[in-house]
Order: sequence, then C-alpha cells, then structure tokens
Amino acid sequence: MTELLRVEGLEVRYGAATAVRGIGLVVTQRGTVGLLGANGAGKSTVLKAIAGLVPKYAGRVLLEGEDITVRDARALVRAGIVYVPEGREIVPNLSVDENLTLGGFHLDGATRRRRRDTVLGIFTEIAGRAASPAWRLSGGEQQMLAIGRALMAGPRLLLLDEPSLGLAPLLVRRVFEKLEAVRAETGLAMILVEQNFRLTVRVSDAVHFMRGGRMLGRREAAELREPAAMEEAIAAYLGAG
Ligand code: ATP
Repeated sequence: MTELLRVEGLEVRYGAATAVRGIGLVVTQRGTVGLLGANGAGKSTVLKAIAGLVPKYAGRVLLEGEDITVRDARALVRAGIVYVPEGREIVPNLSVDENLTLGGFHLDGATRRRRRDTVLGIFTEIAGRAASPAWRLSGGEQQMLAIGRALMAGPRLLLLDEPSLGLAPLLVRRVFEKLEAVRAETGLAMILVEQNFRLTVRVSDAVHFMRGGRMLGRREAAELREPAAMEEAIAAYLGAG
C-alpha cells in the first residue's frame, strides 16, 4: 500500500507545557487511521499540528515523501490536508450553501459548483436546506455540513476531530455511513480522532492509542474486532493509569 502521510517524532508545546511528544504514525492512500485516548491525551493537538494550526516544536511530517513540516495551514489545505474541528465549527448565521462556499474559498466558480453538487449528492439530508441558516440544522446535519465544508476543498487527507461528539447513536451511525460513502466516492484517506472505541475499530484500518501526550501503541483494527482482543486493548490502553 502506498504511503500518503508520515509523521515522525512530532512534539507540540503550549508555552512551557509539552502537549505531545514522540508521535509517529503512517496513513496509507485511501486508509483510515484511528486515534483513541481519553480527554486531554493529546489527540486534537496531533491533528492540529498536522494541519498546521499549531506549531510543531520538533518532528517531521511528510506528504507522499515530501517534507511539509513547516507549511502553513492554507498551504496544507491546498496540498489536500483538511481539518474538521471538534464541535462542528460551522458559521451559524450563514446558510448551508454559504458555509460550503467557505470550504472552497480558493477554488474557481465552476470547480466550486461541481464540488458543491458532489457534496450535496452525498449529504442528501442537507441538500434540500441549502438556503437555510446553519443554526436551524440538527446536530447530525451540522456535523454533515462541517464534513461537507471540508470536502469542498477536495482533500486527500481528512483530519476528523470527534465527529460523534454530542450526537445520539442513530445520528452517529448516519454520519459514519456518510463518511464511508465519501471514502468510496473520493478515495480519500482519514485520521479519525474519537472516544468511541467500537466505531473507530469498525471504520479504521489501524488504531493508535494515546495517553498523556504519548503514543502507547498501534494495532491493526482487524485484530481488535475480535471481542476478547477488544476487551484486552480497552484494558491495556484506555484503562486508568
Ligand atoms: P480532547 O478530547 O479533550 O480534545 P485531546 O486528547 O484531543 O482531548 P488535546 O486537546 O490535544 O487532547 O490536549 C492535550 C493537552 O494539551 C491537554 O493537557 C490540554 O490541556 C493541553 N492544551 C490543548 N490546547 C491547549 C492550548 N491552546 N493551550 C494550552 N494548553 C493546551
């Protein structure tokens, strides 16, 4: 499998505090890597550093072998790396359409319209509400809009920060069905930050576990789908201590 993204020895500090250190991971083309860990483990920080939204204190990030460590967030969006923030940071007073337009700010009009049609073809729930202000959407629909906005940029790598956060189980399932459709249609790769273990194992190829700003281990997701292995991994990686 061809490598898309490689992170080596990543360290991020907030002031004097080290948030994450020694982080390494590899995402293959069309692959999904899950990143699991408790609140404060450093998962969001890893995504934000890859997206160029927080500075990297140490380490390297390579995209198809090219060093992109010092590129800024806008350049990284153009290179195909797009972050979907936790908490669905859509613009509530703008319409669904206007929110999508924001995601394709750097595109020419024709490309933007084509992408918009593709996105609304996948997220059919919001297609009929294109003129509605975003705040009128349900939580699940807002999450779809946030993902749709990211897709407007035409990403090769989607960095998803807790897409299931605050959603009822049925809506979580719908959002993930959409993600599967997106993957099948566009062939993009994903890093998925989650606290939902089962869901992450189901949709990922490999899962990394974090605690206290460190990577504890990496497991093939297929191994963890076995109930005994899943219980063992939960105890080993996500238990107290
Ligand atoms: P959560 O699920 O709560 O987002 P997380 O695993 O994504 O948790 P991070 O948000 O990456 O964890 O936080 C890692 C550490 O860095 C935490 O100790 C957090 O308090 C700290 N931190 C995060 N953002 C900042 C910031 N902007 N300034 C200072 N410290 C921060």
